[in-house]
Amino acid sequence: VIKLQNIKKSFNENIVLKDINLTVNKSEVVVIMGPSGSGKSTLLRCVTFLEEPDGGIIKLGEQEVTAGSQMNKQRKNDIRKLRQNTGFVFQQFNLFPHKTALENVMEGPMIIKKIAREKAKQKAITLLKKVGLADRMDHYPAQLSGGQQQRVAIARALSMEPMVMLYDEPTSALDPELVREVLQVMKELAKEGMTMIVVTHEMAFAKDAADRVIFMDDGLIIEEGSSYEIFNNPKEDRTKRFLQDVS
Ligand code: ATP
Ligand code: MG
Repeated sequence: VIKLQNIKKSFNENIVLKDINLTVNKSEVVVIMGPSGSGKSTLLRCVTFLEEPDGGIIKLGEQEVTAGSQMNKQRKNDIRKLRQNTGFVFQQFNLFPHKTALENVMEGPMIIKKIAREKAKQKAITLLKKVGLADRMDHYPAQLSGGQQQRVAIARALSMEPMVMLYDEPTSALDPELVREVLQVMKELAKEGMTMIVVTHEMAFAKDAADRVIFMDDGLIIEEGSSYEIFNNPKEDRTKRFLQDVS
């Protein structure tokens, strides 16, 4: 469903992504790990052109966008569709602070998809129930715990019915006791067949939910395999060293 070909990205002379090739199939859960600064966030941002890659091709479903080509109406439209089909969950939950949980989840479908208010509301209620927040719908972000806010953010991303969900360290801003409730929701979505790319250092999540684990370092995919292969039998020295450091 998603294919990244020869993705390259530099910030001035800092080469952050060297030549990334990655295909993710429908319903597949791919976990990306790697040291700080290895380019994980940049890669996710490049997928949705939040950061424009210097080179490469991003394919998502029928949509295909080539990096660095001239911006015109068609291309703008392609990037817009790419974004609409991608749900992004950030480390900092990025909810609208002046809107309730329910309003946060209704916003995208109403504004971007022009779905009628009542219909958007019903759908948002269903999604908030799904992430375990039936009793928190009318709360504002400041009245919710970090774990609850992140679950609202997940429901909000889901409201656009994305083809793929991208998570960038969704639990690393949370207190340890709140991590589980967020991972649990993500695991359930994975079980239901949601395609996802997850940047996380949560080994337990990778073991339980990942179909494939990718280890990145210095702008390259160094090695990939099942969580069993990567955690129990890493082939590359850099992977071994990283795993020693995080565990
Ligand atoms: P972490 O685990 O700390 O989140 P990461 O693997 O997500 O790290 P990135 O955030 O992708 O790493 O950053 C990779 C490199 O790109 C870093 O050297 C960073 O300083 C640089 N970088 C990222 N975004 C920008 C930007 N907007 N402008 C300039 N440099 C950037
Ligand atoms: Mg990052």
